[in-house]
Amino acid sequence: MTDYIIVGLGLSGIAISEEFLKLGKKIKVFENHSQSSSTVAGGIYNPIILKRFTLAWQANEQLELALPFYKSLEHKLKTQLVQELPIYRKFNSIEEQNNWFTAMDKPFISEFLDPNLVPSVNPNIPSDFSFGLVKKTGTVKTKLLLERYKVYLDNMDAYEAADFEYDQLQLDGNSCTYKGTQARRIIFCDGFGLTKNPYFNYLPLRGNKGEYLLIESKDLNLEVAIKSSIFILPLGNDLYKVGATYDNVDKSETPTPEAKDKLLSQFSKIITCEYKVVDQVAGIRPATADRKPLVGQHPKHKQLYCCNGFGSRGVLIAPTVAKQLISYIEKDTTLPIDIDISRYTKKFYSGSL
Ligand SMILES: Cc1cc2nc3c(=O)[nH]c(=O)nc-3n(C[C@H](O)[C@H](O)[C@H](O)COP(=O)(O)OP(=O)(O)OC[C@H]3O[C@@H](n4cnc5c(N)ncnc54)[C@H](O)[C@@H]3O)c2cc1C
Repeated sequence: MTDYIIVGLGLSGIAISEEFLKLGKKIKVFENHSQSSSTVAGGIYNPIILKRFTLAWQANEQLELALPFYKSLEHKLKTQLVQELPIYRKFNSIEEQNNWFTAMDKPFISEFLDPNLVPSVNPNIPSDFSFGLVKKTGTVKTKLLLERYKVYLDNMDAYEAADFEYDQLQLDGNSCTYKGTQARRIIFCDGFGLTKNPYFNYLPLRGNKGEYLLIESKDLNLEVAIKSSIFILPLGNDLYKVGATYDNVDKSETPTPEAKDKLLSQFSKIITCEYKVVDQVAGIRPATADRKPLVGQHPKHKQLYCCNGFGSRGVLIAPTVAKQLISYIEKDTTLPIDIDISRYTKKFYSGSL
């Protein structure tokens, strides 16, 4: 008898697993490698939306929980995962510079925006306007985290690299049985895979494809992140992640020549030195219709839950909403209304989605 089956091991699956393990619960995680959003992510944590200089949804509260969460994983997995990395926003006009200062007067924003603009960050990134420094930002090495966490779960016999076959699930009374394993409940952390999940595919998960290029440049010598039309993220050893794209139409995980051309065209307008492309990756962000996560209990099958819909901000959102869901399940607390999938219950029964 297992307490919980968890389907999916991205940022959601890890955050959910951690909460259950803290409570001493027995878990079993199934993962089929069908989704790679968490693997290809830039891993950036940044509470500010850099287009408009506004605070992302509940991002300052999420940041407070997220950093200790990833630090505790560093300790547990004996692996360095968090890298503090300042982001420099490249301004395209005087108006944008002025907007930066206007934004600084708003609550919670000023602690993240540095008032001292800098005229230049790197000789290979010329600019007619200044750069604004965003503070308290960085990256989590999500790919490395997933690799190490799998090994950690595997060592306690709690991980199986296998497809969760929905038609093999039997729901009986208060529990469920899956291929001989009995579990009290199942939490689906299946990312964009939710669209194939017969229990939860009534939820409006839209998905948004993102692609990154991996660039090598001996001359760039950049040690901070740059945000212009795209991000340039230094990875060390003269390697940089450049991206990402946003595509609401193509829902395949395959890198495309169109995205490569688009990113290279944007990148070439930002930097002046030589570089070469060494790789390209793609994944589907689990983006939702109302830009809020999809978290909670199935309207009919009370043993089934989902923790999904983190869009482009999984690094910050995952630890907070996983904690809220586990508290809801184990301690009978209420879920915040804006993440609770009960907002779609009517649609589940009307079948109108
Ligand atoms: C290009 C790109 C860049 C990004 N950059 C950032 C960033 O810088 N910062 C940030 O915060 N966020 C970023 N994101 C968003 C972030 O990656 C997501 O919000 C987050 O990874 C979603 O995590 P998840 O666990 O919900 O989904 P996923 O990571 O998609 O995980 C889903 C898991 O479920 C498994 N699964 C699905 N169906 C089944 C099944 N039937 N059986 C077994 N397993 C199954 C999948 O294999 C996978 O393991 C980026 C995303 C992309 C694509």
